[in-house]
Amino acid sequence: MKKKLMDILACPIDKYYPLELHIFEEKDEIVEGLIICPKCLRWYPIREEIPEMLPDELRDEKDELPFLKKWKNEIPKKILSEGKPFTLKIKERAMAKKNS
Ligand SMILES: [Zn+2]
Repeated sequence: MKKKLMDILACPIDKYYPLELHIFEEKDEIVEGLIICPKCLRWYPIREEIPEMLPDELRDEKDELPFLKKWKNEIPKKILSEGKPFTLKIKERAMAKKNS
């Protein structure tokens, strides 16, 4: 995607603007990166130059966790542990489910 797109992107959940952009790989356009909503801490991947700004119910954890793992050294710690809709703390989530 082009960096300029950030001028018009808002969080699909709470419509917050402006969003934070983290670039992981860039050629003419941003190839891989992360868009973060600082209000609700949702993150949206940019993969193969496409920003995936989907609401939670259309997202698949299995499909997106590999992306978080791949870039975990570049992604802010807060997002890895508190981001929505998925975080890297899979084990803790599983435990919490068991106890509830
Ligand atoms: Zn948001």
